Amino acid sequence: MADYLFGPVMSSRLGRSLGIDLLGDRICSFDCLYCESGPTLKKTMTRQEYADPGAILAELERWLRDNQGDKPDHITLGGEGEPCLNLQLGKIIRDIKKIQPDIPLAVLTNSSLLGDHQVLEELGSADVVLPSLDTLVQEEFIRLNRPCAGLDIQEIAGGLETFCKEFSGRVLLEILLVPGINDSRENMEKITAFLKNLDHERVDLTVMSRPGAHMQLKTPDHETLHRWQRALHTPPARAEKGMEPGTTGRAASASTIMDSIRRRPQTLEQLCSALGSAPEETSAVLHRLGREQKVRALGHRKEKFYTLKEF
Ligand code: SF4
Repeated sequence: MADYLFGPVMSSRLGRSLGIDLLGDRICSFDCLYCESGPTLKKTMTRQEYADPGAILAELERWLRDNQGDKPDHITLGGEGEPCLNLQLGKIIRDIKKIQPDIPLAVLTNSSLLGDHQVLEELGSADVVLPSLDTLVQEEFIRLNRPCAGLDIQEIAGGLETFCKEFSGRVLLEILLVPGINDSRENMEKITAFLKNLDHERVDLTVMSRPGAHMQLKTPDHETLHRWQRALHTPPARAEKGMEPGTTGRAASASTIMDSIRRRPQTLEQLCSALGSAPEETSAVLHRLGREQKVRALGHRKEKFYTLKEF
């Protein structure tokens, strides 16, 4: 299995996305209730060289060599934690763009470090940045995102605003709604006002669609979702796009499947769509990995998700 590369995975926002984890473990400035990587193991705002740029690049080169002709929609820096915590973020982005300039490079971030001018500069060579901002109400922020002590959501929002003004690529903001926590009228009004001055392309309103650190979290009802969509002028949630299962006729190997579900729990259908593999073959490999106790199946909202982790 690869240490840093995972996927491709299907993303409703980025299509078929080849993921790169810049931390190598669950290291983040937040410990969100909904995190699909599971609880944060190291909560920090300190930037370090958590993963070696040379090792990351070697894994990417190997994947590109082994999968010639396969072009994911995006290469995405994300994974098990906050990618901007890696001090080598700028070098990693530049190196990837050098060897693969044609695939758009996306960065997922929880926005906590966007106020750091150095981070802003390092993100300059990315094509797309996807910051999240679930709430502008400090109490909701602490309850939902469980940030490092002392982090203030208004300061983070200020950093995000400055970042959006200076960054020349696409900015796709994400707000994940959890009923009873950040779906309040106060939050909706504050976010609506904030977005009026934010230089961004789009806002994606999302709900918890996979098993997360806390399985008991609920998703908002249709009425709440529609109220937020109307206020924020966001489109309805989009279906995941990508290849149909089995169109490449490729067999999905056990290591490819494990790399894909290692950081993101997925259903059989999502896996087949992301890997372009046939459902029957993929299902057989999953069953074998289950018997070997390498993979677990978890029920979530009437669907079966495969993962390597305990939640
Ligand atoms: S969801 Fe993102 S920001 Fe939240 S704990 Fe997980 S990796 Fe960190």
